Amino acid sequence: TQLAAQYISKPQKQLCETVLKYFDRQYSEELGEQWWNARDVLLNPLSWQYGVLLNRFSDLTNLKQCLAELGYTNLLQQTHPESHSQTADIPLQCFIHPDPVRIPTQSHHTGWLKQYYLLNAASLLPVLALNVQEGENVLDLCAAPGGKSLAILQTATPGLLHCNEVDQHRHDWLLKTLESYVPPSLRHLLSVTLQDGRSIGTMQPGAYDKVLVDAPCSNDRSWLYTPDTHRGEMWLKERTQLPLLQKELLCSALAAVRPGGIVVYSTCTMSRAENQSVVEEVLASYPGVELQELEQQFIDSLSDHFCFAHLHPSVGQLVIPQKGKTWGPMYVSQLKKIY
Ligand code: SAM
Repeated sequence: TQLAAQYISKPQKQLCETVLKYFDRQYSEELGEQWWNARDVLLNPLSWQYGVLLNRFSDLTNLKQCLAELGYTNLLQQTHPESHSQTADIPLQCFIHPDPVRIPTQSHHTGWLKQYYLLNAASLLPVLALNVQEGENVLDLCAAPGGKSLAILQTATPGLLHCNEVDQHRHDWLLKTLESYVPPSLRHLLSVTLQDGRSIGTMQPGAYDKVLVDAPCSNDRSWLYTPDTHRGEMWLKERTQLPLLQKELLCSALAAVRPGGIVVYSTCTMSRAENQSVVEEVLASYPGVELQELEQQFIDSLSDHFCFAHLHPSVGQLVIPQKGKTWGPMYVSQLKKIY
C-alpha cells in the first residue's frame, strides 16, 4: 500500500456571515467561553482533522504500518491501554493524526472492498455508546450515507443490521457505501429500507436490541459555509422545525427497541434545542425510559482526544472542536427502555 498524507490546500470555503452571527448569539449564550474556542476551529477549515476508520473486512496488509509511518496513531489504543472495557475489546480501529492532514479517499470498484473510510472521529462516539454485542438486532434509523452503519459493523457482527433512510438519493448512496465495505458473505445480515423513520416504531414495536438515531440536524460545520445568504436564512428558519422531527424519530426508536434495550440519540450540532431539550422532552413524555450516563471511565479514556463540553443541565455528552482537538461537534445521549 502506497499512501501520502497531505495538508488541505483548497481555497477557503465561503463563510456565511448570517449564519455566523446567529451562531454567535445562540452559542455564546448556551456555551459561553467554550463557543469562542470552537468558533476559531470552525472558521478555519484548514485546521480540521480527519479520522481513518479501517475496514476489518478488507485486506489491510501494510496499511497500519503505512499510517504509523505517516504519524497516525490508533484512537482507541494509544493512551490508556488498560482503558475501559467498552473500548478495550472491540475490533474497531480508527487512526488519527495530530495535524490537519488527510489521505485520499478510495474509489468504488465492483468486487473490491475499500480499506478505510474518512470521518470526523467524534462520529464514533454514538457507535461506541451503542456498544453492540455479537448477534444483536440493531436499527440505524437515519443511516445515509452509512458512516455509522459501517462503524457498527467494525465493532461487532450483529444478528441483523437494519439501515433505514427516508431520502431516495441518500438511500442509494447508503447502498453504495455498504457495497464498498461489506463482504458479500455478510450482506445477508443487512436490511436496507427507504422509509420515514417515524413510522418504524409502530410497524416493528420492540423488535430491536439497540437503535441508533443519528438525527437530521443543523450541521454546524457545513451550515457556516452555506454558499449564499438566502439559503443560510432558509436553513435558519427550517432549524426551528427540527426539534419536532427529532423528538418524533426518538419516540419511534424507543417504540422499536425491546424492554431492556438501548437507544442512542446523536446529532452533529451544538444546539441545545436539538440536543438536551429533545432528550428532556422525550424523557418527560415517554413512560418507562431512563437516561443512562456514559461511564466516566469511558469519557476519560477519550478525553485526550475529544474535548467534552460542560453542559448545563448535564443531559448527554457534547464533543466540541478545540484547537488541536478539532473533532466534533457531536452530541450523544443514551437512553434505556425499562418497560
Ligand atoms: N448516520 C449517517 C452517517 O453516519 O453516515 C448520517 C445521518 S444524517 C445526520 C441524517 C439522515 O437522516 C439524513 O440522511 C436524512 O436524509 C435522514 N432523515 C431525515 N428525516 C428522516 C426521517 N424522517 N426518517 C429517516 N431518515 C431521515
